Amino acid sequence: MIRLEYRPHGYQEIVDYYGSPGTIDDKGNAKVDSLWYKNNIAYFDIGMTLRQSWDQKKLTGFIMNKKIAPALIDALHAIRDYGGQKFLEAYKLDQWGGVFNPRWKRGTEEPSTHFFGIAMDFCPLLGPYGERSRMPFFIVDAFTERGFTNLWKNDGMHFAACTGY
Ligand SMILES: [Zn+2]
Repeated sequence: MIRLEYRPHGYQEIVDYYGSPGTIDDKGNAKVDSLWYKNNIAYFDIGMTLRQSWDQKKLTGFIMNKKIAPALIDALHAIRDYGGQKFLEAYKLDQWGGVFNPRWKRGTEEPSTHFFGIAMDFCPLLGPYGERSRMPFFIVDAFTERGFTNLWKNDGMHFAACTGY
């Protein structure tokens, strides 16, 4: 099992460990720091197929923070290996809801963990924002055993490589 090497707690530790991804103006327009992006974000082939939750388009890789890639990909493989790729597809447990996304945290003016590329939304219909999660435990466990945190009470799709933020 490949775990996160380090899991920062709170905003300051997140910035200390992952760096500062850029700025967002008061209209919500994000400006990504290009040097930070170059040093921290990269495309990774995940060695399996997921589908984008909004259009069911297949993907075999995506961009994310380099520091979380080994643990995140290992979590996805554990999810696949639980019942196989066909099982995931049949029950729509292969739904990719997004990772890197330069925006505020919902309802705040703080950068989202998605801005850092350190959070993944997985199977959004099973853990919609504002509702109690209905995510199968084998999926939750695959992420949390590797160090990702999950907000079961109101953001079940969201798995982040930090705590307390
Ligand atoms: Zn999220």
